[in-house]
Parts: sequence; structure tokens; C-alpha cells
Amino acid sequence: MRPEIWRRCILVGLILCFKGLPLGAEDGPSKAVFVTVAVHNRADIPVNTLAQAELTASAIFKEAGVQVHWVNCESSAVALEIAPSCRVTEFPMNLQLTIARRSKSLTDSVFGISYLGEDGSGCYSNIFFEPAEELHERLHINLGTLLGHVVAHEIAHLLLGTNSHSDTGIMRPHWNEQDLANASKGGLLFTPAQGQTMRERFAPSLRRTASAFVRAEAGRD
Ligand SMILES: [Zn+2]
Repeated sequence: MRPEIWRRCILVGLILCFKGLPLGAEDGPSKAVFVTVAVHNRADIPVNTLAQAELTASAIFKEAGVQVHWVNCESSAVALEIAPSCRVTEFPMNLQLTIARRSKSLTDSVFGISYLGEDGSGCYSNIFFEPAEELHERLHINLGTLLGHVVAHEIAHLLLGTNSHSDTGIMRPHWNEQDLANASKGGLLFTPAQGQTMRERFAPSLRRTASAFVRAEAGRD
């Protein structure tokens, strides 16, 4: 494996002032792209909480024109063999998300981290359950909703590439109470520009797929 530079994604509540609501995606994207995210639940979070987190993240991505298919992976070797998505990565179509209890090396205020290569693409994100659980207990935010937003933020780092934090919306590097209130109401979203950028990252792989299909069709004659 070649060396990777990694980009630390830090989500800390109550640090920066809220500067404005995110731009909406009222008109909706014209054409959706599809991504499979394999989920490795190493934190043993409850199934219902994980399902709610995935539903929340799906809704956020859907607003940006990205359809997410979640694959909940078992850790046994046999199970990994049965589910190819759990062991195979392909940017941007097949990404890997690990949920850990807590980071072994990062501070407690870090909710997640994504790994990008030098070309700005990456397939691996981690999120940390205990910091989210502590914020949930302190501010009484729905845990599944909060985790869903953290997941969406981290997966988006993979799809957006380098320098993908923004001043508004879900890609703000630090979330304050207003952000979290917006998140609870479904109002913490990607900007239209971020949605477009993510969809455009799929263009080369879609062209490859279309080209392979044409070759396969030609091979039948
Ligand atoms: Zn981030």
C-alpha cells in the first residue's frame, strides 16, 4: 500500500458562531449517482441506532443527488467473503466506513476521520461512537440523527476531495448548537455546489462502465 496523506476531519460542537443557514437544494439535482458504503460496526452500536443513522445520511445525500446503498458487514472471514462490498474498494463507487468506540490517538472532540490519497480521492472513513454518545447525552440530540450527520460529513470528505470544508452547511468543520438544532430538523445539508462536485466525481467511473457495456454488447455479434 502506498503512503497516504490523511486529512483529519474534526467536528467539535460549541466552538464557532453560526454564520448562516446552508444553501438549500430546492430544485433538486437532475441526475443521481449511486455509491455503496460498506459499514463495519466495530463499536457494537445498536442495530436500530445504526439503521437510523444510515437513513439520516441517506436523506442528506439524496438531497445532493447521491443515492447511498448501505451494506452492514459482519466481521467473520466467511461473512466478508460472501459480501464482496465489505472487502473491495473502488473509488467512488464502493467505500468503507468503520465505526469505532473511540479514537486511539485523536482527542475526544474528534468525531470522525477520512483518509485521502495525494490525488484527493479516498475510500476509507472512520467515525467514533463515544464522542457522539456523550454529545447526545449532554444536549439531548437524537443519537441516530447525530451519527447520521457525522457519517454524511465523513463520507462526503471522500467524495469531495481535498479542502472540502465550507463555511455553511454540513461540511462546516465545527458544529455549534445552531448547527445541531438544524441537524435535528433536517436542515443541515450540503450546498448545491457540493452536490454538483460529488456527482461530478462519478463521471469518469460512469464513462468506464458505459464503455465496458458497449464493448460487451459489441462482443456479442
Ligand atoms: Zn470534516
